[in-house]
Amino acid sequence: MTKKRITKKSFECENCGQCCRLLFRPNKSDIIRIESAGHADFLMNHPFRKDQEGYMKLISGDCAFLVKNTDGTSSCRIYDVRPKACRDYPFFSKKAVEDCKPLHHLEEVKVRYAKNLYIPKV
Ligand code: SF4
Ligand code: SF4
Repeated sequence: MTKKRITKKSFECENCGQCCRLLFRPNKSDIIRIESAGHADFLMNHPFRKDQEGYMKLISGDCAFLVKNTDGTSSCRIYDVRPKACRDYPFFSKKAVEDCKPLHHLEEVKVRYAKNLYIPKV
C-alpha cells in the first residue's frame, strides 16, 4: 500500500528529534539571531571536510541544542530563534513529502535538504 504523503496542513510533528541529527549550515541571519539570544559556540567544521566551516554543531550526533525529554520526546533549546531550515523542515518547497523522518527516507532528504548529509545514528 502506498503511504499517503504529508503536506504542511496535515503534518503533525512527533518531536522524535531525528531531524535534529542532520548536518546543515545555518544562514547568516540565523547565526545573528541565535547569537543575539545569548548563545555561542554552536558552529563546527564539516566532520569529514575540515576546511568547510559553519555547520550547526553536533554532539555525539545530535544538534547541540537538542534536549532529550524523559518521556522519549525531544525539544529544541532555542526553539524561538531556531534556524530557518529547522522551521521549514520537512517542507522546503510546496511539495508534499512522504515522511519527515530521515532514517525512513534518507534519499529524499538528501535531495531536498543538503549537499552534505550527515547520516544520523540509529
Ligand atoms: S523527524 Fe519529523 S517527527 Fe521527528 S522531530 Fe523532525 S519533523 Fe518532527
Ligand atoms: S536548532 Fe533546534 S530544531 Fe534546529 S536542529 Fe538544533 S535542536 Fe533541532
